[in-house]
Amino acid sequence: MTHCPETASPALVSQPLQLQDVIEVLEGATSVTVLCHVQPDADTIGSGLALGIVLERKGIPVQVSFASPDRLPVSMSGLPGTDLLVPADAVAESSDLLVTVDCGSAGRLGALASRLDRAGRSLVIDHHRSNTRYGTFDLIDDSAEATTAVLARLFDLWDVEIDADLAHCLYAGLVTDTGSFRWVRPGTHDLAERLLATGIDGADIARRLLDTHPFGWLPMLGAVLSSAVLVPDAADGRGLVHAVIRCTDSAGLGSEEVESVIDIVRTTAEAEVSAVFKESAPGSWSVSLRSKASVDVAAVAERLGGGGHRFAAGYTATGAVETAIAALRETLG
Ligand code: AMP
Ligand code: MN
Ligand code: MN
Repeated sequence: MTHCPETASPALVSQPLQLQDVIEVLEGATSVTVLCHVQPDADTIGSGLALGIVLERKGIPVQVSFASPDRLPVSMSGLPGTDLLVPADAVAESSDLLVTVDCGSAGRLGALASRLDRAGRSLVIDHHRSNTRYGTFDLIDDSAEATTAVLARLFDLWDVEIDADLAHCLYAGLVTDTGSFRWVRPGTHDLAERLLATGIDGADIARRLLDTHPFGWLPMLGAVLSSAVLVPDAADGRGLVHAVIRCTDSAGLGSEEVESVIDIVRTTAEAEVSAVFKESAPGSWSVSLRSKASVDVAAVAERLGGGGHRFAAGYTATGAVETAIAALRETLG
């Protein structure tokens, strides 16, 4: 009897693997390209570098990269394993195995999405509920706090010793994706404790990743926050607050400064949903969405072409920002 004859073509949907099978796929690879998502955060980079370090220690040739921007955000430059990073245009055209980390869809690979088709096989390691299962194989745990938490479980079964370098990379993803341990679940602090016990300096890692900005951040915040708008009747009366960061606001600043704004905007008591429209190029907007409890912003972002998690999601929009804001309001209901 055919097993699940009504399921979609396997060429379009990746095959979920158990941890043990993932280990076999990784150990059997003759060369590996590890790709992180565009506009990388500490979870995708921490995951990419941790996996890169492990593969290198096992003697498997490995490159780690991301499509854009051209340089690693300064806040992540102190992570171990950055010597494994190669510029996007230096990524091998094809490799035996391509692994993506923390990338919910192929589009999140930016220009490097082309490498997916040319790789012998691909493995998607992620924790986004909206993951589109675009690889050959996948290891997706949407209950995991961070992709680095998925890797920690993989390393344990693989008998990889999590030393201070690996712990540093894993902790970077854990502390940032949990919002400094605000969004946690049973086991989150156990993992943090294990990583800290290797001797890493958790306070220093958190400060570099989350609490360090140049002075120019302050006037940018002043300009952007003073023009934020509250729409009480949006989202069925639950409220929306939105702010816009134009290229002129963020000139000379890094991605850390731009990405930090949503964490202030989302604290607005009168709004269930918050949005920050970040101009990445003239007329091109990368949008961050957050919700508190009752709105599933991953579903909202998916309808607008993006994805993410229930309470934190994003998408891209083009054209006038007023039009993009109107489209968001329409989608929110
Ligand atoms: P951010 O607001 O950029 O921190 O993103 C919040 C969440 O939404 C993260 O989990 C991202 O992976 C996801 N996300 C952000 N932008 C996009 C996008 N353009 N497409 C799909 N997912 C996105
Ligand atoms: Mn990420
Ligand atoms: Mn993540």
